[in-house]
Amino acid sequence: MIITGHNVTIEARAFAAPVNNPEITEVIDLISGEVQRATAFIAAHRYSELVEARVAMREATKKGQPRHICAICGTPVHLVANMRKRFFFRHKTEDGSCPAVTRSSLSEEEIRARKYHGLRESEAHKRIKQLIERSLRADPAFDTGTIVQEKRWNAADDPQTWRKPDVQATSAEGRFAFEAQLSTTFLDVVVSRRMFYREAGAHLIWVLASFSEDYRRMTTDDLLFSNNSNVFVIDEETVRLSEDTKQFHLRCHYRIPFCNGGSISDKWQEAVIPFSAVKKEIERQRAYYFDYEAEEAKCHGTFDQQLRDDVIAYWAVNMTRQMEGRPEHQDRWLVIKEKLAERNVTVPDRPAWDSSFRGMMHAVLSALKGHGVGWGFDTLIQCAHQTAQMHPESLLAFAFALEVAGHKELLKSQDSTGKWASQCEVMRIQLRKGDPKYAPPQEWMPALSFLFPEVGARLAEFVRRNGLSTS
Ligand SMILES: [Zn+2]
Repeated sequence: MIITGHNVTIEARAFAAPVNNPEITEVIDLISGEVQRATAFIAAHRYSELVEARVAMREATKKGQPRHICAICGTPVHLVANMRKRFFFRHKTEDGSCPAVTRSSLSEEEIRARKYHGLRESEAHKRIKQLIERSLRADPAFDTGTIVQEKRWNAADDPQTWRKPDVQATSAEGRFAFEAQLSTTFLDVVVSRRMFYREAGAHLIWVLASFSEDYRRMTTDDLLFSNNSNVFVIDEETVRLSEDTKQFHLRCHYRIPFCNGGSISDKWQEAVIPFSAVKKEIERQRAYYFDYEAEEAKCHGTFDQQLRDDVIAYWAVNMTRQMEGRPEHQDRWLVIKEKLAERNVTVPDRPAWDSSFRGMMHAVLSALKGHGVGWGFDTLIQCAHQTAQMHPESLLAFAFALEVAGHKELLKSQDSTGKWASQCEVMRIQLRKGDPKYAPPQEWMPALSFLFPEVGARLAEFVRRNGLSTS
């Protein structure tokens, strides 16, 4: 920088400098449809480029085709330099009405609403609306007369409530509102539209001009993750395909879960698909090609089953007091315990030392296998008597496990003396009276339900129906 008299000369290749506290802090680029910070925009240009840009900007404004507008009031803006050749934006006409100038305080909400409004005027927005409309017109499934841009859609029950979707169209599948995502589509807009179209029994489809999995705005994430991890893009290529095939196509970006060791990882995938392959749900206002939620549930199911198998395998081998004392077995159990804790399932630190937990596990596993597990018994009948005498709180679980495994007849066949049958009669009477000794241990119910879902469900149902309180 060279200062001579009152003049400041800036090196042409130096980066331009903004003023410190500009009144206009953000501008909207009407071509790209981006909100830009004024200071960042200025500082990103070399001095010579910015001066050239500012001439072009002034020309465009004069022709009534401004490239930049104030993000808050929507008035065209141009670049101005101060005495020290530092730059800032100024409204084309400064009538003092812009809240940015009057420094009147707007809420975050109002600011976003104003920006959103400004962005709707952008070329980028007009372009994507055209692409959506062309895609729809290419496909005879959509009734030509119903395809319109920016037309009021009134709520059936309230003429005061309406929306103006970017593009709307009707097919045999129903009524659709297509909305282009703008660089600032704030959450309130997303939410209120979801509610409006759900109420109207119509589908709301968000469309992006592009998507990059590594660079996602919050607004993209709002759409993506509320839409089963699918987002749709319409671009020149998809429009051409729609026109060539006479079938509306979109590009779908979606997340795929996969089992990675003991946890779930994701990867991104992209596919150009016909709109007819998109699953549409009005209630949840979702439209997706790949069902992330279902796939993720499958992964969880696989992990849960692995964990159940781990517990059962551990139990079969280690659950004698002698074996349990070994440190390596204890370590293994603690690993299992931690995984169970992630599923909100509690088990004791030392299962062999906890009589009620150990009894429950021995009883249920023995009933399921049809022979003694944990206990040194060979026959099921021994396990039955052991449970009744030592662990009455697990007798119901034992009985339901027998039922689930189909081992009732096996047990009956081993009851040669009829002692078990008569004991059952006594227990039935006690149960009917609500004898608390049969109340299952509440502490271990989550573990029972997780490890043995069917047994847990039957027991819970019995407890509920008989008003048997858990202990
Ligand atoms: Zn303004």
